[in-house]
Amino acid sequence: MNLFALAAVFATMDDAAIAALKHAAAVCDPRYECGGVVRRVAGGFEASPLISSKKPFGVDLGEFYGADVVADFHTHICSIHNVAFADFFSPADAMANQGLHTVGYMLSLCDWNIRRYDPTQDDRDDEEVDFTSGRVIYLTCGHIVGWVGSAPEERGWVEATVVRRPGKPAALKLSVHR
Ligand SMILES: [Zn+2]
Repeated sequence: MNLFALAAVFATMDDAAIAALKHAAAVCDPRYECGGVVRRVAGGFEASPLISSKKPFGVDLGEFYGADVVADFHTHICSIHNVAFADFFSPADAMANQGLHTVGYMLSLCDWNIRRYDPTQDDRDDEEVDFTSGRVIYLTCGHIVGWVGSAPEERGWVEATVVRRPGKPAALKLSVHR
């Protein structure tokens, strides 16, 4: 399903991915992840159309892959089931970028920041999450490269379901009670 196509060539892959994720924030159904890829084209970088697999978690970008793909981008929805994880790249996200030698961009619909994970520059698995069951998983922080502003009325659905932990950005260790 093509929600839109950005008919523009950008100077950098950051510009292309950030523009695409800002558009994703505006047009994608916030209940489903959506995303796309950035390709190197004559004169710069271009974003693919946005697609969604119509699933809360995961979007299959396989149809877009080719030798000219340099980056991928996707949204993380914000629900009570993933609020502790939405602001991080998942193990699958980080593995895909490492395996494909691409840069990942992710927009969290919880904190509205756009993050970038470059396997050649950023640490992987630098966030430890401890479950009360004793299970431990590791997520990837990447670093923030942009953010999406939105009007208070558009954010009502987020604030209704999510309570941010005060001081969260400084916390390197999360505890998840489930
Ligand atoms: Zn992800």
